Amino acid sequence: MTAANPLSWLGEQLETWRNAGTYQRLRILESPCEPVSRVDGREVINLASNNYLGLANHPRLVEAARDYAARYGAGSGAVRTISGTMDIHMELERRIAAFKKVEACVVFQSGFTANAGTVSAILGPEDHIVSDALNHASIIDGCRLSRAKIHVFPHRDTAAAEALLRDLADKPGRKLLITDGVFSMDGDIAPLPALVEIAERHGAIMMIDDAHSSGVLGSNGRGTVDHYNLHGRVDVQVGTLSKAIGALGGYVCGQRDLIEYLYHRARPFLFSTSHPPAVVGACMAAFDILEDEPERIDELWENTRYFKSALRDAGFDTGESETPITPIIVGEVKTAHEFSRRLFESGLWATGIGYPTVPEGRARIRTIVTATHSTDLLDSAVEILARVAKTMGILKA
Ligand code: PMP
Repeated sequence: MTAANPLSWLGEQLETWRNAGTYQRLRILESPCEPVSRVDGREVINLASNNYLGLANHPRLVEAARDYAARYGAGSGAVRTISGTMDIHMELERRIAAFKKVEACVVFQSGFTANAGTVSAILGPEDHIVSDALNHASIIDGCRLSRAKIHVFPHRDTAAAEALLRDLADKPGRKLLITDGVFSMDGDIAPLPALVEIAERHGAIMMIDDAHSSGVLGSNGRGTVDHYNLHGRVDVQVGTLSKAIGALGGYVCGQRDLIEYLYHRARPFLFSTSHPPAVVGACMAAFDILEDEPERIDELWENTRYFKSALRDAGFDTGESETPITPIIVGEVKTAHEFSRRLFESGLWATGIGYPTVPEGRARIRTIVTATHSTDLLDSAVEILARVAKTMGILKA
């Protein structure tokens, strides 16, 4: 007798998603990540990446990756705390700390592990977290792992954040106020100056996730803290090396004691192997480029302004976006996925996103322009978006 499949419910769940139109097949990139990429056998305009500055396939990063692999090998051989800390890992951390104008930095395997590992390391069950409703999943998971009490305030509502902290004033435990710098699904920027003041008034730790701001906001892409000139007033700054920096990884910046503490207590740092040398090399080259070629960031912003204004002229609802992340809100999740599918068939790659990633009724496709998209490509993208939207009744014909 063959045993019943204990995972048979998975197939049933997948079938439900197929019927609801929310099942997503992975699209396969068959070229480097470029403004026009080869995907599933066709050339498409790529508005689906986080490759803000076009560094993912930049010759200097590729060359540095080759060079570091040739000198240090393909892998590091261990987790950081055993024998996997190479001099190049330390050099990258010093480099990022100097770039961000902080005392120290620790690099993690990803932005996700940087957030989840840090929040869960610095807080425990006695503590309290005050968190923006649209914070990234890695923050939410870190909060849950910490077992601290989680208090969520409505998106960007600083008065609500302060009210929560005021209510917690007499409660024992540490308090953490935490926000994304740029919100990944809406492209709006956190009201950081007000949040910093609130954290200071209530003695809370201020933490920001700058995944979508690193390389995008602030001088040479130093991020949200630099954008608002709040150096020295944000205790924990997380960033990613996987988006504008073009490679892979995450990091935490702050005072030396924070970093040393994370070396001892952040579980992904302690229990997961360090970056392969090639990745470290690519990241080092990316920071060189941020300092040598700030005009790339200007080009990113020029493209952002151009594309957003063309979308608005065409009649699209682009929400509250202020950055290169521009959502095109269509309402129902099924419509968003169908829109994305038809756009792809017409030569444009932009991802459909629905509940639970964004609230119900606010499903969208998310677009991200990069510094390397030409004006002609952006014009073509808007033309395709408007044409397909009209055939689907998203825009009036
Ligand atoms: N934070 C935010 C806001 C993000 O959008 C992402 C990426 N989806 C991350 C953290 C995680 O970064 P990484 O891809 O480096 O793990």
